Amino acid sequence: MSVAALIVAAGRGARAATDATRPKQYCEIGGAPMLTRTLSAFAAHPGVDDILVVIHPDDVALYGAASTAFTSDILLPAVMGGARRQDSVRLGLEALAGEPPDRVLIHDAARPFADARLITRVIDALATSPGALPCLPVTDTLKREADGRVAGTVSRAGLFRAQTPQGFDFQSILTAHRAAARDSTLDFTDDTSVAEWFGLNVAIVEGSEDNRKLTTAEDLMIAGRLMLQGGALAGTVRVGSGYDVHRLGPGDAVMLCGVRIPHTRTLLGHSDADVGLHALTDALLGTIADGDIGAHFPPSDARWRGASSDKFLKDAGERITAQGGTIVHTDVTLICETPKIGPHRNAMRGSIADILGLALSQVSVKATTNERLGFVGREEGIAAMATATVRLP
Ligand code: MG
Repeated sequence: MSVAALIVAAGRGARAATDATRPKQYCEIGGAPMLTRTLSAFAAHPGVDDILVVIHPDDVALYGAASTAFTSDILLPAVMGGARRQDSVRLGLEALAGEPPDRVLIHDAARPFADARLITRVIDALATSPGALPCLPVTDTLKREADGRVAGTVSRAGLFRAQTPQGFDFQSILTAHRAAARDSTLDFTDDTSVAEWFGLNVAIVEGSEDNRKLTTAEDLMIAGRLMLQGGALAGTVRVGSGYDVHRLGPGDAVMLCGVRIPHTRTLLGHSDADVGLHALTDALLGTIADGDIGAHFPPSDARWRGASSDKFLKDAGERITAQGGTIVHTDVTLICETPKIGPHRNAMRGSIADILGLALSQVSVKATTNERLGFVGREEGIAAMATATVRLP
């Protein structure tokens, strides 16, 4: 059974103008664009085979920036949306129809906190129903208003709040949307409404309170604050460590943390032998349990001969972003008798910050000698240790 996720991101979201230069789905929450978080939730789910995003024609550049971490293995080329949400969904379904999936999950970009269990519940329900809708009960008492006064109380019995992703048998919802498009008087605000109108059965599955729709500027602020404060949306914090050594040999400079430092010797290795960046690459890979630098860039591979190690570090950073993760902090300790690191420390911090897209305040570089003891003390080599702290959804 193939499952595609169709993410609707074509709205203008004027209500959430926290950043007047961009629509809300591209505003940052806790350091990453909302859409990047939404995409990560689906890209990381083992049951989702493809993702297609419907965007506004004005947002091509913003979309490009928000989706760089996702490869064409999972992310199909974006499709331009229409005037209404319903039109955008239909255009997305038509784009999928060339190589139709068995099932489709239609999701609003403005719900970045859909978790894996919720997505699984929707997919599982489609085994026995052509449609599945995640819902939550209404807990507030509902009032009817007339002329600014309370005109009555509405019973909550049998009422639910509809969320997304809404899952459907692909051909059924495509047929329903095509039929709805033929009558211009019809205007549906979600896809289950289209399914209801067409007569499709839609099962109710349990929604998730975290999966809230971020609509107003205040919603965005609250979500960002909850993530920063380690609230329900914060996910987990992981710490990884790394260690590396390279031998010193004849030469005139060493590469340390991306900075070339004139020296009486050089570090030997298959790549540029930058021990600092190698240790930090391993620390980052450690946070997502994704092997080590040697597994991704084997020394036996001629492509990495003399390679600049910023490639390795950048790749590790992208692997974290692809899982919806955010690097909180990195810390490298260089262990050597010479050269002196102090004068180059800030250049090294700047180089790591540039490679990983971090602020200088998130990047620490320290150094110590080995008190002339052991191989480092005899200046046979230089060692480095690193730790990285990462927040994952
Ligand atoms: Mg190494």
